[in-house]
Amino acid sequence: MIRRSLLCIAAAVAMLSGCATTTTTSAVPQPQAPGQIAAGKAEVLWLGQAATRITTPGGKVIVIDPWLVTNPKTPAAYKDLAALGKVDLILVTHAHNDHLADAPALAKRNNAPIWNGGGMGQALVSLEMVPPALAQRFGKSGTIMPFGPNGVKITAVHAEHSSELVWKNPATNKDETHYGGEPVGYIIELENGFKIWHMGDTGLFGDMRMIGERYKPDLVLIPIGGHFTMGPQEAASAVRDLIKPRYAIPIHYQTFPLLRGTPAEFSAALGVTGTSVIVPEPGQKVDF
Ligand SMILES: [Zn+2]
Repeated sequence: MIRRSLLCIAAAVAMLSGCATTTTTSAVPQPQAPGQIAAGKAEVLWLGQAATRITTPGGKVIVIDPWLVTNPKTPAAYKDLAALGKVDLILVTHAHNDHLADAPALAKRNNAPIWNGGGMGQALVSLEMVPPALAQRFGKSGTIMPFGPNGVKITAVHAEHSSELVWKNPATNKDETHYGGEPVGYIIELENGFKIWHMGDTGLFGDMRMIGERYKPDLVLIPIGGHFTMGPQEAASAVRDLIKPRYAIPIHYQTFPLLRGTPAEFSAALGVTGTSVIVPEPGQKVDF
């Protein structure tokens, strides 16, 4: 019942058609209009491409891959970095502009550190994009507990991608390409044990199975757009055959023409599985 309903969510969003099923979706998180998060819940706010804000049950705010100001999919209300509210911590999966873009400004605005598990921080500091205190590093398979020993746990995991950092040198006004560390994804375990795998940009790789078995993510934020990342078919294979999460939110699609994959294609390729696909519009919140 849940599966049928969620396929309809995908279809409704992607094809602007109605949903014929009348089965209940009460057990399944639904995209929410802007509003207050219920106490004790986790809230996931997707803002287009890979940009995501997670508000934890304990009230911590984690922003991942903040490309907002020039992101064509980010709702106008969130193009002002102040609209995110207080931010406690920023994660960046890799140095491409559609992931890193607003991270330095957001870090400085909130005095919130950018944690990166792939070695990007060194470039951020040496290029003076952020002061050293705001570029914190760890590494793949490393786990940080940035809010204390009983709080959120964040583990960096492999992603199959690249991470060059293109930076405009103010002295020459020319673009330079710098080493931006390695791409990663993040497993974020919230205070209540709910686990979110933000996969960043990645191709399909076999160790998704191992990562899934080791960390048992409840929710994956998974790229489906293709060209630079998995497309709908590869993402469906990752979810169905390797990771088997309870929930999947497709990201990194239709932002610009090369990213052709759609949630409807992803859901169709996935077929009937134990994974519920949730398709929020950018700016819609989902509570878990
Ligand atoms: Zn990207």
